Amino acid sequence: MKQSGFSLHKVKEQNRLSFLRIIRDYGPVTRSQAGQMLGLSSTTCMELSRNLATRGLIRETGQGDSSGGRRPTLLEINWEYSFVLGMILSQEGVSCGVYDLKLNRKSIVVHRAALTDKYIIHRITECAREAMEKSGLAEKNIACMTIGAGGIVDAAKANVIGTTHFHTRKIIHIHEELDKIFSFPLYLENYGNLLALAEKKLFYPQQHSLAFIQVDTGIGGGIIYNNEIVRGANGLAAEIGHMTIERNGPLCFCGNRGCVEVLGSIPALLQKAAIGLLTQPGSLIKQYAGENPVSIEAIAEAFHAQDRLAEQLFEEEADILSHTVLNIIVNHDPEVIVIGGDITLFGESLLEHIHEFLANTIFNSETRIISFSQLAEDPRVCGAGLYAAESFFSEAMPWRRQYTGGGRR
Ligand SMILES: [Zn+2]
Repeated sequence: MKQSGFSLHKVKEQNRLSFLRIIRDYGPVTRSQAGQMLGLSSTTCMELSRNLATRGLIRETGQGDSSGGRRPTLLEINWEYSFVLGMILSQEGVSCGVYDLKLNRKSIVVHRAALTDKYIIHRITECAREAMEKSGLAEKNIACMTIGAGGIVDAAKANVIGTTHFHTRKIIHIHEELDKIFSFPLYLENYGNLLALAEKKLFYPQQHSLAFIQVDTGIGGGIIYNNEIVRGANGLAAEIGHMTIERNGPLCFCGNRGCVEVLGSIPALLQKAAIGLLTQPGSLIKQYAGENPVSIEAIAEAFHAQDRLAEQLFEEEADILSHTVLNIIVNHDPEVIVIGGDITLFGESLLEHIHEFLANTIFNSETRIISFSQLAEDPRVCGAGLYAAESFFSEAMPWRRQYTGGGRR
C-alpha cells in the first residue's frame, strides 16, 4: 500500500511539471488545450492549474476562442515568478547577467580583470551580488545560477579543472565554496556547451543534433545530441580545441602537439600575422591596425580589401577550421554545425571555403547546415542564463521553496 501511495504522489508531481512545461512551451493556452496535449482529464487540469496559480507560477491572461458557451481562460507562465543568474568566467574576467524565466535580461555586470585561482570565489561572489543589486533583486528572488567556464569542467561535481584561463592546473572547488555563500542551487558548465545549447534551443528547435565551434582566445565548443549536451565519461567529449590536426605541430597547453587551438585560435592567427608582416611590411593589416597592435579586426578588414598577407592568413585559418569541421562530422555527424567568435569577421568566404573542402570528400551532405552563430549580445552569458532558466523547469525546482518577491502575485 505504501508503494502505491508513493507512486501516486510521483505521478501527481510529474503531471504538475508536465502541465507547467506545456504552458511554458505553448502558452498562452487554455486548460483543455494543455490537457489534450498531455492526455489529462479536465478535473485533473483544473486541479493542476489551481495549484500552480496559487503558487504564483502561472497566471490568467485573456480568453481563448469558444466553440459555443463561455470563452475559456488562457494561461501563461508568470515569467517574473523567479529570476536566474548566468555567469561566465573567462580570461577577460567575470560577467554576470540576471534574467527572468523568459530570458529577458534585467541587468548585466562585467568585471574586466584577469582571474586567478586564489581570488576566483571572491570575484564570483562580488559580481553576482552586484548584478542582483543592479536589478533590484535579493538572493531570495534567485532560483539558481549557472556558471560557464572555459577549459575542463566537471559538471556533475561542479568543479573546474584549472586551465590557462585561471593560470593554474589545480582543481577549483567552485561548488563547495559557493554553497557556503549562496542559498540557491548552482550549476557549472563548459561555456562551449552553453553556447551550443543556446544556439540549438533558440534557432534550431526542429533539429536534434548540433555542434558549436567557438573561435576566439581559444577554440572551444559543444555538441548537442537528442537535445542533450554530450559530455562523455569525463567531460571531454566536446574538447574540439584539442583535436590533433598536426601530429608534430607546436606544443599545446594540454601537453599534446598540433591541437586545433594552438594552430587556429585568434592569438595563433595574430602571431602568424606578426611573422608575416616581417616579410610583407607593406600589408594593409599594418595600415588598418595603425598605432595599435595587430588585431583580428585589422586582419579581417585587410582580407576584405584583398590584401595578400591577409588572404594567406585566411587560407590557412579556413583550412584549419575545415579540418576541424570534418573531424566533428566523422565523430558526431550533426545536422547543424555553427561557428561563433571573432573568426566570423572573415564573413561568408569562411563558410564557402569549408563547403568547398567538404565537397571534395565523401562526407559531404546536402542537408547539413553550416552557419555562423546567430546569438546576439553577450552570447556566452545569455547561454548560461538559458541553462539556468531551463534548470528551473526541471525536476523539483519550481516547488523547491516559495520564492518571495518574484513578480505580480
Ligand atoms: Zn591541446
